[in-house]
Amino acid sequence: MATLTIALSKGRIFDETLPLLAAAGIVPAEDPETSRKLILSTNRPDVAVVIVRAADVPTYVQYGAADAGVAGKDVLLEHGGLGLYQPLDLEIAACRMVVATKRGFDWAGAIQRGARIRVATKYVETAREHFGAKGMHVDLIKLYGSMELAPLMGLADVIVDLVASGNTLKANDLVAVEEIMPISARLIVNPAALKLKRDVMQPLLDAMIGAVAARRREQ
Ligand code: ATP
Ligand code: MG
Repeated sequence: MATLTIALSKGRIFDETLPLLAAAGIVPAEDPETSRKLILSTNRPDVAVVIVRAADVPTYVQYGAADAGVAGKDVLLEHGGLGLYQPLDLEIAACRMVVATKRGFDWAGAIQRGARIRVATKYVETAREHFGAKGMHVDLIKLYGSMELAPLMGLADVIVDLVASGNTLKANDLVAVEEIMPISARLIVNPAALKLKRDVMQPLLDAMIGAVAARRREQ
């Protein structure tokens, strides 16, 4: 049984965390894209990586089922962050959370009129917070994916979604009308595991802090 378990999601989080783990001397034995295994051993007998859904990473770490993990700020805001130590912005999986509408939709006019606006999103907590802070009452519709479809199908007036290049919005005839916040992925740690497993955890933390700083110097 590994001493230290790190929860990651497949895709960009796994891919972009790999170099940071490598800097800490940790190399997973398998690629989750080709392996069906959910528990990956690494070159280090005391460290394992577990593959979970992006939105489940904070839950595994909060309950100590995993000792550490990597999760987007979007996911952490929805989770709430309770029971998580967040020592480091890894500056990976960078994107922006935005409000987007169909091209031609009079967003400013709708706000001015005080129209009741329907917002479709996977990020209901963040959306509630954002529009609440602006004093806007909106109807929130929870979706689990393909938010871009909602304004096109008349399900909602606007969406709150993540945007990197903007290509997906453009391809669906949508435009960003408000920036909510920049998003990147964070290292998260179970506070009890940090105390009890400090001898393994602290070098991992230090190496990742060093790797993030080194990459920033290169840019
Ligand atoms: P799931 O696939 O389980 O539904 P997901 O779609 O959120 O979850 P990913 O697409 O792998 O999973 O995204 C993981 C994280 O990467 C997100 O939580 C977010 O922080 C970041 N992310 C999402 N979309 C983008 C994007 N277009 N560009 C850069 N980073 C992104
Ligand atoms: Mg996705």
